[in-house]
Parts: sequence; C-alpha cells; structure tokens
Amino acid sequence: AGGDQSTAGGKTSIPGVKQIIAVASGKGGVGKSTISTNLAVALAKTGAKVGLCDCDLYGPSTAQMFGTKQQPLANERDEIIPIEAHGIKLMSMSFLLDDNSPVIVRGPLATRYTQQFLRQVEWGELDYLILDLPPGTGDIQLTIVQTVALSGVVIVTTPQEVALIDARKAASMFAKVNVDILGVVENMAWFECDHGTRYPIFGEGGGVREAERLKVPLLGQIPIDVQTRECADNGTPIALLSETNSTVSAAFKETAAK
Ligand code: ADP
Repeated sequence: AGGDQSTAGGKTSIPGVKQIIAVASGKGGVGKSTISTNLAVALAKTGAKVGLCDCDLYGPSTAQMFGTKQQPLANERDEIIPIEAHGIKLMSMSFLLDDNSPVIVRGPLATRYTQQFLRQVEWGELDYLILDLPPGTGDIQLTIVQTVALSGVVIVTTPQEVALIDARKAASMFAKVNVDILGVVENMAWFECDHGTRYPIFGEGGGVREAERLKVPLLGQIPIDVQTRECADNGTPIALLSETNSTVSAAFKETAAK
C-alpha cells in the first residue's frame, strides 16, 4: 500500500478510496446485507465507483446476493483482486469457502481477516467502499471502527422493538468511538398487498423514532417485498431494476441520493 494514507487518531484511510461507509445493525436478519448490496448498486447507478466489503465473516452472503462464486486471484503485489459483479468490486468470505463450510475462527483471526479484506485487497480508485458489518458489537466491528477512517455508519433496523433495542446498542458503540451516524434505514417497514393496503407487520414508526432519538436523518424505508427477496436469492439485487418497475428500487435510489 502507498504512503499516502492519512491518519486520524490511529485510524487510517484506504488509499484511492474516497468514502468508507459502514452498514451496521444490532440484530441479525434485519436485512443489513440486503441494504448494503442495494445501496452499493444504487450508488453505482449514479455513476460512482463502488466496492462492497462483506465483513460478516461468519455469515457472508455476497456471493449469493450478487450471483457469483468466483475464487479471487492475487496480483503481483500479493493483494487479492476483488471479484466484480454488476459493476461493483466485491470481497467476501463467501468467495473463499464452499457453501456449506462454516467459518471457524476465533476473535484474533477474525480481526486479521478483517484487516486483510480492507488492506490487502486491490480496491483501486473508489468513490465509495461499503462495509457490510456483522450484526452486533463484537471484535470485527471494534477492529474496524478503531483502525479505519470511516466517513460514517448507516444503521439498519426493522420497526420492531427487539431490533430497535439492539440497533440502539450499535448506535451508542459508534457514538462512543466518534464515528458519525449518517442515518437510519428502516427495513421491512410494512407489507403492501395487491390492493394497496399497507400492513405494519413489524410495527410502525420504529425507524422514524430511532432516527429522531439519534438526531440523524431517516435515510429510507424499505417495505417487505417478495421481489426484493427473490432478487436477493437469484443474484440480481432489486436496485438494478428500473425505478419505474419497482418501488423498492426507487426507494434505494432515494436512499443513496441522501
Ligand atoms: P442481515 O444481513 O441483517 O442478516 P439479510 O439482508 O440477510 O439480513 O436479510 C435477511 C433475510 O430477509 C434474507 O432472506 C433477505 O432476502 C430477506 N429480506 C431482507 N430485506 C427484505 C425486504 N425488504 N423484503 C423481503 N425480504 C427481505
């Protein structure tokens, strides 16, 4: 890596990468990877150069969500060359392992992998590097917030109280280490039936209230949507669709714009 790394309180930037944005959640299964993936795609659609680093070593989903299962190669400097899909540079444990192999590593090794994913990958010139963090406030998140100069973090939650409780814990960890919270994305905000009636399956207004409490913008509200789930499963993130064909794609466009 070059000598042009700027440092701020022990945190270093990644040469060539303009903005590093973490996507975090307290709880698992709230759609953090879905949001990271589609935000990356929506940002790339604006013409930006985007990378996505799946830091969820224990539950990586990038290969599935981007529909690619290539093994990354190394360049002559021994850096990993990221996999490219839908115009986005990707790094994930899911490229290094068989589908059914669990990641069995303890904290210190997880920390080393995380550093490697960030520092020993040929990210090149990027406008945005999105970090899909694991859920919670463990070793990997701590390593990242203490060593990487993040532009900020986006908090993903559902409107449900159990998700919000954990989202608050994650938010206070970021506040403690002086990472800017860029805003909240409320996922699974409602389900809209064919007749246009909205059902607040996980409750109402949780994301709005959390954004107000944190005094940060509510960046987006994404409904529960069958097509969003299907797109995730077949490797074509919904944000790739034209905004006129999908309200969810339109919502991601708006979220990325904010
Ligand atoms: P996390 O990264 O927080 O564990 P995922 O992004 O893997 O969550 O999402 C969990 C599950 O919910 C996945 O099966 C995903 O396809 C699905 N999912 C996420 N968001 C939505 C949504 N808005 N509508 C429908 N399914 C969703």
